Formats: sequence, structure tokens, C-alpha cells
Amino acid sequence: MAETLYADIILPVAVMGRFTYSVPARFRDLVVPGASVLVKFGKKSTYTGVVAAIHTKRPSFETIRDIEDVVVSSPLINERQLSLWKWMSSYYLCGEGEVMKAALPSGLNYGSFRPRSETFIALSRPHDDESLNSILDRLARAPKQQELLATYLRMTGYTAGMEPVPVRKAHLLKESGSSPATADALVARGVFEVSSREVSRLELSQLDCEPLKILSKAQDETLHKIGTLFREKDVVLLHGITSSGKTEIYIHLIEEQLKKGKQVLYMLPEIALTTQIILRLKRHFGELTGIYHSRFSEPEKAEIWKHVAGMGYRLILGVRSSLFLPFSNLGLIIVDEEHDSSYKQHDPAPRYHARDSAIMLASMHGALTLLGSASPSVESYNNAIREKYGLAALSERYGLIKLPEIILANTREAYRKKLMVSHFTPELLEAVDDALGREEQVILFRNRRGFSPYIECSDCGWIPVCIQCSVNLTYHKSAGRMVCHYCGYSTGMPHKCGNCGSAGIVTKGYGTEKIEDEIKIIFPSARVARMDQDSTRGRNSFTRIIKAFEERRIDILIGTQMISKGLDFENLTVVGILNADNMLNFPDFRAHERSFQMMEQVSGRAGRRQKQGRVIIQTSDPANRIIRLVLRHDYAGLFRLQSEEREAFNYPPFCRMIRITLRHRDKSMLNDFAAVLGNDLRAIFGKRVLGPESPLIGQVQLWYLKTIILKIEKDKPPVRAKELLMEAIERLEHAKGASSLRISVDVDPY
Ligand code: ADP
Ligand code: ZN
Ligand code: ZN
Repeated sequence: MAETLYADIILPVAVMGRFTYSVPARFRDLVVPGASVLVKFGKKSTYTGVVAAIHTKRPSFETIRDIEDVVVSSPLINERQLSLWKWMSSYYLCGEGEVMKAALPSGLNYGSFRPRSETFIALSRPHDDESLNSILDRLARAPKQQELLATYLRMTGYTAGMEPVPVRKAHLLKESGSSPATADALVARGVFEVSSREVSRLELSQLDCEPLKILSKAQDETLHKIGTLFREKDVVLLHGITSSGKTEIYIHLIEEQLKKGKQVLYMLPEIALTTQIILRLKRHFGELTGIYHSRFSEPEKAEIWKHVAGMGYRLILGVRSSLFLPFSNLGLIIVDEEHDSSYKQHDPAPRYHARDSAIMLASMHGALTLLGSASPSVESYNNAIREKYGLAALSERYGLIKLPEIILANTREAYRKKLMVSHFTPELLEAVDDALGREEQVILFRNRRGFSPYIECSDCGWIPVCIQCSVNLTYHKSAGRMVCHYCGYSTGMPHKCGNCGSAGIVTKGYGTEKIEDEIKIIFPSARVARMDQDSTRGRNSFTRIIKAFEERRIDILIGTQMISKGLDFENLTVVGILNADNMLNFPDFRAHERSFQMMEQVSGRAGRRQKQGRVIIQTSDPANRIIRLVLRHDYAGLFRLQSEEREAFNYPPFCRMIRITLRHRDKSMLNDFAAVLGNDLRAIFGKRVLGPESPLIGQVQLWYLKTIILKIEKDKPPVRAKELLMEAIERLEHAKGASSLRISVDVDPY
């Protein structure tokens, strides 16, 4: 009799580790790594899980349950995906099941992945000039057919005697503006011949796409430099100033990989950015290009999975979750705007950083990683100067356009001299007015949505807060509601003070909604729009706004960080940053780095073609060191300053950081548990433990919060420290009364 087989299974539960079940004889051939199976878990639950490994080693526990059923046997998940899940689980200290939940679209119908097929059209046989002309003559009385044939000849660059090249029927009809009936008529005449092909077999050479742009000398040198660096290093950082033409370099690198038959993953931090880049990519790589982000429905995501698995899509443009797609043959991962904080997922687990995970994924495929940024993260730049990564630089703008001129507008002085008009300095209004006069466009940036961040009773100072969180409610005027930006709770605008009953309630501060209102009053004939989380709820709202701005149907666009990143607008010459101070003063060790990046990034949108742009930064502290650096576009200075500070105060990249968050509905119980864990950890890690402390927002959704920070040395592998940490957490979870305590761990919480 054959030996009993056991399967280690990943289940969608928030528990570390895999679960072992026995494989009934009837399923022996079906249960393979990557297959999905049905199992009983706990007393009543049944789960669909993914088989991670098969072996003959009997587990030590008593009752081993059988696998109930096989859902799909043909592997749904490949070995490299399983390795990525495993790595994420051990590095980020979460369950593989939690990674699996983040990775798998629920619409994946567990069917086998079938490559898509499509109809192609080609001349039925080669022709010389004479016979081609005679066909065209004969079609003189069927001008539509003649036109279609002429389009085909043009698209394929047909010359006498050439072997006919098939083109996609849909593409041909679109190019020539013909109907299917016209094509059918030519097939009936024997001029054309139809065939059906799997898209996965398509090669780049079969696509009729625009050739790549010719690179400038500086771009070309950088492209070569990157190639040279990749011979020695798997990761290269491209530090290229805004509008230096990084995207065009990426496109050249992508083509190289696609020609080799490899897959490429191109990651961006924000969905809004994908709408412009996808068009640039499709122009060159046509149908091989797919896009992936959270705005797709679950069934659509499942479709995309199939096209990636079937190699129909060989180039994927996506946000952080695109890491989880079933790649089988990656050659290159590009992480654009690598410094961007949106690459980090904070909640729920897996609390992963998509840039760092991408580097891991690439190494599993033997692939290369290119990180790109105009203002790299301190950790990546540090890795580059320490020669862990290769470093390539591009320090001129494409077309030698100058970097924007930065003008500081002192709000403190303007308030004192009573020169402020609402929230705008004279400098900003003048620049906007100038731009409008020249029919150029303007972007105004404010990193706060809503109308005003809080309201206040002018008699007693009462401020309404969320009923579940320790957060002021933000006033949203168009919705007529007060909204909590942490939990989504909302309530109507109060007519009188909740404390003294006074009717003197006033709005305080300003968000994008208020800016929009006031700009419309100041510039009544300008066309104004807003792009933030509130104005982009609809599925195609990003595309709609970006397109309207591109087509100059909007003069002034107001927005949050969404508009600050890699967008490329031809006619945009003035950018206003409404308040630099609140970013700079945010209590976080990365606040200065992030403010610099934000300002550099937003200003990078200005003057990208032909003309030099202008950026107006409103601040109450024009002497601020970081602002001085932005003024000179001095990234090197920023890096020097930041690394000195981080080294002196022991922050990443000079140490590793892990944040433990404890949550409980009872404040005093929380304090007790946090103190116990703090002491336990201090006994193990000594001075490496900081806290427990109350975070900035001490209560969210009725849960009180406490955090403990663990800082461990960079030079030792963190594996042992992580084990000790998890053991301490487990001890606390098993302590008396701890059942309603929630503990989460965030590795690299920045
Ligand atoms: P970055 O990604 O560095 O911000 P882009 O690649 O978007 O820069 O380039 C900025 C602008 O210059 C874009 O509009 C792009 O189309 C144009 N551009 C860049 N390189 C070339 C080139 N080699 N030929 C023509 N246009 C280019
Ligand atoms: Zn709330
Ligand atoms: Zn009051």
C-alpha cells in the first residue's frame, strides 16, 4: 500500500503557520502544490485553502483530518507565488493566509486558465505589384473594400512578394473605419484569409505599434549606464529629476524584456497615475499590456489573473497589489516613484512594503528591479551610495527645459499687512492671474480634503469630535455633513453648540472644498475642478478629470496628493502649494523627507514642455531648512541632512523598526496590558524598546490604542529578534483576560 500523503495547507485565517491534513487515496493525483481544496477547520467551519506542500511526514498531533474535496487540481497558484507569500509572512510577521487573502481576487472562479484567442486577417497569398494593382482596380466599384485593403497594406508595410502578415481583425476594422461585413466580403472574394490565434503566442514583432521615441543623448547614456549596472547588480536606482524622461527610459527597458519573451511589472503608487501611463504603454506594446488595481470588480480581477497566467498580458501596469499576480517569467520590475508612501500597506495585514517585496519577488524570478524617483527615499539612496544597489542619474529635463522657479510667499507677513485674500497670498493670486491671462493652466495643492478640518463654538471653544475616535470631525459643505476621516462616521452640521447652546458656530481651517469655493469667487470666469478622494468615487472619475485637464477644459485644478505625483500636463505652468507648514510640522521622523518629496513632486508638474514653470509655496516660515532645500531643488542636501539626523537619533535606515499596536475597548485594561508587554520586551531587548505610548490618534472606532516601538540593530539578521517578539506577544495573548485585546505588528512601519 502506498504511504499516506499529507498536505500543508494555507487557510484564509489570521493565524501564523500552515495546517496539515491527510490526502485521501482518491485525491492522490489531484492534490498538488498550488491546487485549491476544501477542508474542515475548527468545530464548524469549512474553508477553501491552497496546498503549499505535499509530504509523507506524519504530524505529531493526534487527529489528522482528511481533505474534504478538491476544488481545482490544476495549480492555480505557482511555486513562486507560494514563495512570495511565505517570505511576506515571515518578514512581515503575519499569517500566510492573510497574504493569500490580499493576493487572491475573490472572483477567481478556480477554473483552469485558458489563453484568449482572437481573429486575425491577412492577405490569402503573396502578391507582386501587378496583381495587387489589379485587385485594387477590380475593387474600384467597392470603395469600402478598397479602402480596407489599402489600410491593411499600409499597416503591414506590404511590399511586393512579401509573406502576408496577419493583423488583428478588430484593429484593422478600427483603423480603416470599416464594418465587419466589408472584411467578410474581401474574405469571400478570396483576397483575405482569416485565422484564429491565441493571444499568448503573440510576439512583440506581430503587433503593429508605434516605434519607440528616440532618446536624447542624456537619456541614451543613462539607459546604457543602467544596462551596465544590471550586469553587476540586481537592483538599480534611477535618480532622475522630474520630467527628465524616466518614463521613456522605462519604455526602452520594457521593450528589451518583451523581445526576450519575458514579463514586466511596472508599479505606480496611485491609480490616478495609471490612466496617463497606460496610454503611453499601449501605444508601444498594444495588446500585451494589462492594468491592475483595486477599482476593478472581483470578476474583472480574475480575468486579468487569467491573462497574466496565460501570458496574454506580458506587461502589467499596476499598484502595489499587482505584485500578487501569477507571473511565471518576470524579467524586470519597475517601481516608479519608489519613495512614495502609498507603497506601504498599513492595514490590514499583510503590512507590507510593495517596493521591498518587489525586490524580493524579482529575485525569486532571477529578474531585475529598477527603482525610479526624482527624490528617492532615504533608505534606497542609502543603499545606492553603499553600493548595495546600482545608481544611475539623469539630471537634466527632457528638451533642456529649466526646472520651475520657486517663489516663497510669506503668509505670516501677508496676514500682518492684511494682504491675504481668504487663504491666498498676493504672490499666488498674481501668478494664477498671469497664467489665466496667457491661457495656461494652474494646479493648487492642499493635502486636506473637505471644506474645513474642524468647526468651533466661538463662545466657548467647543469642537465636535467623532463618537468613536479621538478625531475632530471635518466639515464637508457639499454633502452638508461632518465626517470622521478615520472611521467614516458622519453627522449633520450642528445648528448650536453642543456645550453652551450658542448659535455662534464657525468653520476653522480649510480643505480642498473650501479652496474650490473661494477660487471660483476670486476668478469667476475660470473653469475650476477638484480632484480628491471625495470627487473621485466613481470608477472612471480619475480618467475623466485628467482628460478634461489635458484637453484644457479646466483652467484651475485643485487637489490633494493625488495630483502631486507623476502626471504630465503640457500646458500647466503654475503650481501653488497652499500650506507647506502643516506637512513640515507633522510629528513623524519622516515628515521632513516627505515634505521635501511632496513639494519637489508637485512642483515637478509645472512647465514640463517648452516653458519654465513657476511654483508658489505659501509658508509662515520661509527660512525653514527644508524649504530652503526645495528652493534649490537640492536633493543631495536633503539626503545629507536626513542621514545625519537619522544616524544621530537611531532611525531607519540605521536601525530596523517594528511597531506593536495594542487595542482594547477598556482604557485601563489596555494600559495594564501594554505595560506588561512593555516590561516583558524590555527584559529581552533592553533599551531597544520604546513605549508604551499613546499614538497621535489615541482612539479609533471605540478602540483605545497604545504603541510600542522596537528598534533593532541593522547589522544582525532580524530573525531571532522577531521570534522573541512573537513569543512575548503570544505569552500576553494567553494571559488572563486578554481575549478582548487585539495586537498587531507592523514591520518597517514607515
Ligand atoms: P519623467 O518620467 O522623468 O517625469 P517623462 O518620461 O514623462 O519624464 O518625460 C517628460 C516629457 O518629455 C513627456 O511629455 C515625454 O513624452 C517627453 N519626452 C521624454 N523623452 C522624450 C523623447 N526621447 N522624445 C520625445 N519626447 C520625450
Ligand atoms: Zn471616527
Ligand atoms: Zn459653546
